[in-house]
Amino acid sequence: MSGCDDAMGRIQSIQSFSTFDGPGTRCVVFLQGCPVGCLFCHNPDSWDFNAGEELDVETLMRRLERYRPFLSTPGLTVSGGEPLAQPEFVLELIHRAKTEGWHVALDTSGWGPQANFEKITQAADMVIFAIKHPLAPERLAPHCNLQDTLANWRTLAALKTPVWLRYVLIPGWTDDPAALKALDEIAGELPNLERLEVLPFNSLAAEKWVKCGKESPIFSGGNIKVTEEQIIKAERMIGWLPQRVKGKNIS
Ligand code: SF4
Repeated sequence: MSGCDDAMGRIQSIQSFSTFDGPGTRCVVFLQGCPVGCLFCHNPDSWDFNAGEELDVETLMRRLERYRPFLSTPGLTVSGGEPLAQPEFVLELIHRAKTEGWHVALDTSGWGPQANFEKITQAADMVIFAIKHPLAPERLAPHCNLQDTLANWRTLAALKTPVWLRYVLIPGWTDDPAALKALDEIAGELPNLERLEVLPFNSLAAEKWVKCGKESPIFSGGNIKVTEEQIIKAERMIGWLPQRVKGKNIS
């Protein structure tokens, strides 16, 4: 990664206001291009590295500026696609946004070389890390390598940067007790883990998969609905969460 100025990035879209993608109110920039190939992806149209709009950091920052007056705190989340697949651009974007007073979160699957991962996560104010499956991610994310993902995850323990872990609950795919126990162990490795979110899968993106000409056994297997009870049950099986509540570490 050269770190030189004027890197160009491929952008899928910008969401002007979010309260979901990090603390406070934020803009979200969705980078175009993802090599991971999750079978439960809600944005399969973000995978193609040749689609989207090509922009430099300056142009992107001026667009974000339009939304800033509507945010109570100027937060920016760099998401995807997989942002780490455009490392030069993302690093420049983070540096520039921080210089202009934005709080910057990186939302990633932890994909890619460790050197890039370390440099970019050190630059960000916080990291949102989506673990696909803590034992066998290749079952539902064919290009996700468990060892590489966990190696990147573990580098975060050396940082002061707050980390949120996100895990999508998909009955029959990610809800087995062994997986939830393994997730608990992985969560316990990071002293700077602030939050662990178990998110319910839904089938709303099924049409997008069809439009993209892609197939997924998760979306073609019928309408999946995850209940509140299933989320609570999974959370109970992940010991990290109850421990944090007891210790009043999460609000
Ligand atoms: S890493 Fe994210 S964008 Fe990429 S395939 Fe998985 S869910 Fe989709």
